[in-house]
Amino acid sequence: MTKKQIVSIEDLLDALGEYMGDDDIAEVKRAYEYAKLHHTGQFRRSGEPYILHPVQVAGILVDIGLDATTIIGALLHDVVEDTDISLQQLTDDFGPDVAMLVDGVTKLGKIKYKSKKEELAENHRKMIIAMAEDVRVILIKLADRLHNMRTLQHMPKEKQVQKAEETLEIFAPLAHRMGISTIKWELEDISLRYINPQQYYKIVSMMKQKRTEREALVTSVITEVNGVLEEVHIDADVNGRPKHIYSIYNKMFKHKKEFNEIYDLMAVRIIVDSIRDCYAVLGIIHTQYKPMPGRFKDYIAMPKPNMYQSLHTTVIGPKGEPLEVQIRTKDMHFIAEFGIAAHWAYKEGKNVSTNGFDEKIAHLREILELQKDTTDAEEFMESLKVDFFSD
Ligand code: GDP
Repeated sequence: MTKKQIVSIEDLLDALGEYMGDDDIAEVKRAYEYAKLHHTGQFRRSGEPYILHPVQVAGILVDIGLDATTIIGALLHDVVEDTDISLQQLTDDFGPDVAMLVDGVTKLGKIKYKSKKEELAENHRKMIIAMAEDVRVILIKLADRLHNMRTLQHMPKEKQVQKAEETLEIFAPLAHRMGISTIKWELEDISLRYINPQQYYKIVSMMKQKRTEREALVTSVITEVNGVLEEVHIDADVNGRPKHIYSIYNKMFKHKKEFNEIYDLMAVRIIVDSIRDCYAVLGIIHTQYKPMPGRFKDYIAMPKPNMYQSLHTTVIGPKGEPLEVQIRTKDMHFIAEFGIAAHWAYKEGKNVSTNGFDEKIAHLREILELQKDTTDAEEFMESLKVDFFSD
């Protein structure tokens, strides 16, 4: 996202003004004043007043356009854990929904983690199911972790690496499963910077080296594609796609690829109005540029379990270089970025039709449900002896 990060309550209220009604905003303000009052005298490691943490956690969720209950839950997420406020008091003051979210986040924070790699996948699965009770608990927890990762420079070195590893093992995959790619990518890139700074900065510098050349190439493809689409009267947004350091790292070091073998360094994304247009554009792209064999994927006909939909193809670009192309509708793009979080997002102004969306969410929840144990959430939360959530 290219938006300016929300750092203060003023930024937060400004951003809310774009999509929330006055009554809801008044409630958010009340939650802010309440959190500020009760966190008085508490400070972050950075030396900043503590209240800036919940404000910035809420800000991450405001960027996604989430509902008032989630934003209020985010502002209040530490009051039961870190102040004199009881859960009952919070219920009296803000109602059962907000209290339930805060309680969920607090419980997650109490789980103790035994660092045993083989247990991770299992714990992971169980957590997701526990949280499926109300996915907004996970959204707040993910935003909480993202803000803690953004401010990790204030932690001692050892703690930085431990948090970064935990984030890569648990939180980024969790964000991926829920389809919230914006959070997933940022979590991965920050983690890599602490876990393997050498490789991280090596990739950054390699990306810089040919950036001008690559950008010129992408721009010429965008102009060319726009021209062809105009001729056939297809409305489309054609953009260069942002690159993520961690995914390049993965391809280079896990899949043993050379830097110049990585296709998605050069990538464009084409966003259109309808599924029909997606396939029409695919045909046009394949006519204009030669497709590379075995590189076409139809995630529209066969969506990923996290609801991701798109057409992927890699073609030979104008200078003979591989060019990755993604084609999707606006709705698909919204879900590709925010996944399950889109369910609680205000849809106005997002160009997302609700058509079929609820079924997609229901489907994702079904997948989560299928993985469910016989134990209920509460029981196994107690039985888990892991601590990936303690901050
Ligand atoms: P494939 O080999 O074509 O299936 O694709 P990769 O797994 O190599 O992913 C290529 C690119 O597609 C990624 O860098 C993302 O931009 C996009 N992509 C793939 N899977 C997802 C997903 O689940 N969510 C989102 N938002 N993007 C995805």
